[in-house]
Amino acid sequence: MEPIIHIENVHKYFGRVHALRGVSLDVQKGEVVVIIGPSGSGKSTLLRCINRLEEFDKGRIVVDGIPLDSAENINAVRTEVGMVFQQFNLFPHLSVLENITLAQKIVRKRSDSEAVKIAMDLLEKVGIPEKAHAYPAQLSGGQQQRVAIARALAMNPKIMLFDEPTSALDPEMIQEVLDVMLQLAREGMTMVVVSHEMGFSRNAADRVIFMDGGVIIEEGPPSVIFSNPTQERTKLFLSKVL
Ligand code: ADP
Ligand code: MG
Repeated sequence: MEPIIHIENVHKYFGRVHALRGVSLDVQKGEVVVIIGPSGSGKSTLLRCINRLEEFDKGRIVVDGIPLDSAENINAVRTEVGMVFQQFNLFPHLSVLENITLAQKIVRKRSDSEAVKIAMDLLEKVGIPEKAHAYPAQLSGGQQQRVAIARALAMNPKIMLFDEPTSALDPEMIQEVLDVMLQLAREGMTMVVVSHEMGFSRNAADRVIFMDGGVIIEEGPPSVIFSNPTQERTKLFLSKVL
């Protein structure tokens, strides 16, 4: 089967920093891939290359059959890929509902009533329909992150990218966000998730990828990577985070 994400020998430089040093990765439709690794290992850069928030210097990325090689194609890919960041990045001056309807109306050209209907269904799904008319500052971090997920889902993405979505949250709010992600995974969404939440990985990940120094060091099912990694660098990293 053709992978929905194909990454082939991708290199990325920031000046003299060689952030990605030949990364290759295929993700199948419906697969949930979790990326772990130390700070600075290139996890965010790799994720950002997938929807071309970051340009890469060498290699090839093809998303759902579309190569990231022209402005037109990059725009096409971006409409298929949703992204959720560590910092929720909601528009502070817009209500929750407006946050979730804005891009639907502009990019998807949906009518106001259609966009509102979709937004309300998604707020129901992430468990906070009563917050539709609140502003981001009136919500907890966990609620804001659930709005950010709803906003991304409103665009009907084929792929969802999550970059440490629970790292900025107080501990008691982490699970409510992971539960939404877990549900999404069970519904068959293709997901690439940078996260060190082992519980989530064990429950949701088909594959865990360990990155260090801009390369993939090893990968495998969570049961193997967390309990029986073969590489010393993976063992060392896990001994620090587990
Ligand atoms: P991770 O997400 O695994 O912590 P990153 O992908 O953010 O790692 O960073 C990989 C490397 O690239 C690091 O050395 C980091 O300092 C560098 N880097 C990332 N973004 C930039 C940037 N915008 N400008 C310069 N260097 C960057
Ligand atoms: Mg990062």
